[in-house]
Amino acid sequence: MVDLTTLFGPECVAVVGATDREGSVGRAVMQNMLDSFEGRVVPVNPSRDELFDRRCYDSVADVPDADLVVVAVPPDAVIDVLRESGEAGVRDAVVITAGFGEAGNEGAARERELAEVAAEYDMNVVGPNSVGVISTPVGMNATFAPLGAEPGNVSFMSQSGAFVTAVLDWAADREVGFRDIVSLGNKAVLDESDFVEHWGRDEETDVVLGYLEGIEDGRSFIDTARTVTDDTPVVLVKSGRTEAGAHAAASHTGAIAGSEAAYEAGLDQAGVLRVEGVQELFDYAAILAGQPVPDSDGVAIVTNAGGPGVMATDAVGDSGLSLASFAEGTVGALSEALPDNANVYNPIDVIGDAPVDRFAEALDVALADPNVGSAVVIACPTATLSFEALAEAVVDAGEAHGKPLAVSLMGGSSTREAGRTLSGAGVPTYFDPARAVRSLDALREYREIRDAEYTAPREFDVDREHAREVLADAGRRGTTRLGVEAMDLLSAYGIPIPEGEVVDSPADAERVAEGIGGDVVMKIVSPDILHKSDIGGVKVGVPSEEVRDAYEDLITRARRYQPDADLLGVQVQELLDTSNGVETIVGTNRDPQFGPLVLFGLGGVFVEVLEDTTVRVAPVAEPEAREMIEGIRATPLLRGARGRDPVDEGSVVETIQRLSQLVTDFPAILELDVNPLVVTPESATAVDVRLTVDPEKLPGPEPEPDADTTETTETQR
Ligand code: ADP
Ligand code: MG
Repeated sequence: MVDLTTLFGPECVAVVGATDREGSVGRAVMQNMLDSFEGRVVPVNPSRDELFDRRCYDSVADVPDADLVVVAVPPDAVIDVLRESGEAGVRDAVVITAGFGEAGNEGAARERELAEVAAEYDMNVVGPNSVGVISTPVGMNATFAPLGAEPGNVSFMSQSGAFVTAVLDWAADREVGFRDIVSLGNKAVLDESDFVEHWGRDEETDVVLGYLEGIEDGRSFIDTARTVTDDTPVVLVKSGRTEAGAHAAASHTGAIAGSEAAYEAGLDQAGVLRVEGVQELFDYAAILAGQPVPDSDGVAIVTNAGGPGVMATDAVGDSGLSLASFAEGTVGALSEALPDNANVYNPIDVIGDAPVDRFAEALDVALADPNVGSAVVIACPTATLSFEALAEAVVDAGEAHGKPLAVSLMGGSSTREAGRTLSGAGVPTYFDPARAVRSLDALREYREIRDAEYTAPREFDVDREHAREVLADAGRRGTTRLGVEAMDLLSAYGIPIPEGEVVDSPADAERVAEGIGGDVVMKIVSPDILHKSDIGGVKVGVPSEEVRDAYEDLITRARRYQPDADLLGVQVQELLDTSNGVETIVGTNRDPQFGPLVLFGLGGVFVEVLEDTTVRVAPVAEPEAREMIEGIRATPLLRGARGRDPVDEGSVVETIQRLSQLVTDFPAILELDVNPLVVTPESATAVDVRLTVDPEKLPGPEPEPDADTTETTETQR
């Protein structure tokens, strides 16, 4: 666990590379520090004795009591400065200097060295290639940005330095305050997980915001963020969403973006509120920092104009909120308070001639209603209405009822003063009523994250040793691709498979078919034939007297299709009754940032055509597996659409978790598809499997030393 209290609250800051040369970074940082910082600022530059009327030191080692160094020296001098600082006992550093991972091989090597020195001295290093760090509680602006920040309760991290300066500029105009700001730079040492963890512990940070292009270690980010988001909302813009965007990000800070599906799943599992863009980022920040979380989803709309009320109503329909239906008493009270032609049902229209008192009374009555969790106030300019007086009334009503409010003041300069009053009191205001509704919806979204119970992934009792043997066998055969000959991998992990066997003669085929009884399914088995049905390599419903011929036919087809294919034989498999079943797919993949992912969706030929799938980062816990089933469009098909019987969802949920355990246990499995997993009202059965393995990670032929103890009892991890 890193401790960043000194980074954000130093007493004495050494600025290494300080200078008074016009237009230089060293000067800008020095000037910002002198203008802002409450503690001591000490310039370090061996070629100067004095700078900004203060003594300039040759080295950090000479500065008494320095507890943070800000480094703005040329790239090839950075490592030495960090070493000296480490020797001098300084444990926190901000490296502004660029020319590291983002600058070719030489830079990348330098960045590795930087990380090594940081590890050697146990230093918290921001950057390199960072714009710097701001901490308003100690008035510190250790950046070269032209503007600092006003104090507030929002902390912000950004992988783009330019975005930090842009946000500072933007915020200065809007009285948006911050607690801490960090430009992450290349994240050689400290990354997003460290800051999320720190701000999660920091009592004064109410909201964490971030702009990220990539996440260093997805799994650790999920684990860290998940604990933080119980108390502190985390809102992120993750850019590089599209293929083109992802490419741009990769050539940006040297970040290699993980796949979009992994990010979507990972951020969701982390409890992060992911937003599309910058405006939403700050809309969310404003309302999460300023307003309480609503207890219920009913929204009251109070407006002095019909049209905007309809717009807000539409926006409520598009959101996870609902238009509150008022209790009887509320309607009665509104009828008494409002003129005859006013609308006393939701949205409440107080009519264009409403003075502030009428507006305020309607809002008061609405907020008192038990079915109302939050309210949107919409006001258009009229001769009878003072925006300023309305703003004060709204602030009072919000405080009196403890329910969240968002305001839409539909005007220009005449609303400015009122807007300031409202945002000063933490009530967000917008021109667009729909935006006001969306912000309230962010509060609801956060409430769901906050209230979600965390369930640890379950560890099933499995035959790990048998699975290991199946994989070790692939190693012996020198193959990286496996098919139905590896079905045992699934059954070893408790995933039901049909009875069956791989045989290499017509006689054996017949023997196995007789053992199974009735009609059977026969499939060609070859690591070189990926899609068996495409070459007529699957025969469904073969009667016993035709098994021998079917065997010969399958072998002939395979040879004709691919003469040099490695043929392992033919699988003879029990025929499942699929008439009341649905073919689904469960599969896994590995992401460089998030590790193993689990996928579920509509299977068979539909996978590629419809792409109706959901993804989660493994290990997947039971509630997450349930969400996956609910996350596809075809869910109604599983739940008994058109007179069908609903399928056995519990078995699917369990299969997803068991597969998740399999890939977590065996890093050698790179990709695995169970397609189809046939799901019926009684069961879920895997009838096909295909996987690719990493030959380097395949287990050896020897049993694991603890093989006898791998059969664990069912416990919670
Ligand atoms: P591939 O995907 O390589 O073409 P599969 O083993 O998935 O081969 O078989 C193709 C299709 O045949 C499946 O989607 C399913 O509809 C059907 N099928 C395969 N095995 C069985 C079985 N044991 N019982 C019933 N139908 C089966
Ligand atoms: Mg298949």
